[in-house]
Amino acid sequence: MIPSVLPTYNRAPLTFVKGEGTWLIEADGRRFLDLGAGIAVNALGHAHPALVKALTDQAQALWHTSNLYHIPQQDALADRLVAETFADTAFFCNSGTEACELAVKMARKYFYDAGQPERVEIITFSGSFHGRSSAGIAAAGSEKMTKGFGPLLPGFVHLDLGDSEALNAAISDKTAAIMVEPVQGEGGIRAVPDAELQQMRALCDEHGLLLIFDEVQCGVGRTGRLFAHEWAGVTPDIMMVAKGIGGGFPLGAVLATEKAASGMTAGTHGSTYGGNPLGCAVGCAVLDVVADEAFLAEVNRKAGLMRQRLEGLVAEHPEVFEEVRGAGLMLGLKCKVVNADVVAAGYAHDLITVPAADNVIRLLPPLTISDDEIAEAVTRLDAIARDLTQA
Ligand SMILES: *Cc1c(COP(=O)(O)O)cnc(C)c1O
Repeated sequence: MIPSVLPTYNRAPLTFVKGEGTWLIEADGRRFLDLGAGIAVNALGHAHPALVKALTDQAQALWHTSNLYHIPQQDALADRLVAETFADTAFFCNSGTEACELAVKMARKYFYDAGQPERVEIITFSGSFHGRSSAGIAAAGSEKMTKGFGPLLPGFVHLDLGDSEALNAAISDKTAAIMVEPVQGEGGIRAVPDAELQQMRALCDEHGLLLIFDEVQCGVGRTGRLFAHEWAGVTPDIMMVAKGIGGGFPLGAVLATEKAASGMTAGTHGSTYGGNPLGCAVGCAVLDVVADEAFLAEVNRKAGLMRQRLEGLVAEHPEVFEEVRGAGLMLGLKCKVVNADVVAAGYAHDLITVPAADNVIRLLPPLTISDDEIAEAVTRLDAIARDLTQA
């Protein structure tokens, strides 16, 4: 018999009832060190006092009104994002895949209004992940996500990262945009080199295309800058944001330049929930903490510490781990044993990690993780590696 919850997930045999900072707690009091953060969502850990306060204060005042009316919390969050980034404007939704939907629509509408309606193609890359909507799976294009769900939304051209010749050759009079994650998450924590992002920017400028960065996973302080592309010194025309921006409240956003957004006039897009008072109050509270130079400097310091310890771990256990990869506190351990076995062994040591493609385990701790917790995490990973080599 089918379970009452549609069985689309392979769930671990864990059930948490409480969260405190970097810790997840089961009903019997067993505490797990959380290096998953709800897949880079709980950017400030669990039950951060500033987020609890923002949520409860807003819950007592007003939850939801729809976008038929002005929403001051939404204006405030948009103002903050515009002030902190390349963007001139922001649209709010509830998830990463909805951000993908608008990014695609916005790019196509831009060229439609510019009298180039044939420019509909968006170049994307293998290993990418843009969510599970029809546009999201067509954008990523992997067989695993698309098989059986045809006809797929047309207009995506899939290339391999790191192949500049193929990228040059793929640009035609049908091309509208290049869409890329500056650091691939689901694809196995693969950071796109700065030079490659710069080359994409240059190509878009040369051909009049729009550059779309998907920072749903790598954004909001995760890499030690507010947004990951800042490291490369280039900006996109459109950016997708979600996960960390809500700190656990479902919140997504599309940020854009005035030019890229010019086609999105009244009536062209919308969302019932997107940008509601509750979500935006929490989003503002997240940004108050993360968009702070001192906080980001701490993320970088802790990321350096964690990376150094992980390099040591890999050197100690070359039969289990191959390399450390990633940026900031978006780290991956490429495994030599099966990555799912490492994640499962983690559960036995009360440690949460997240698998990714390319046989990688992801370490995406709350950005608020302490030095002691980093040391404890590496101690547990060491014990896990010992278990796996003894077995
Ligand atoms: C998680 C993710 C998405 C999809 O976000 P949802 O909120 O699950 O729809 C899109 N892009 C990237 C890079 C992601 O990591």
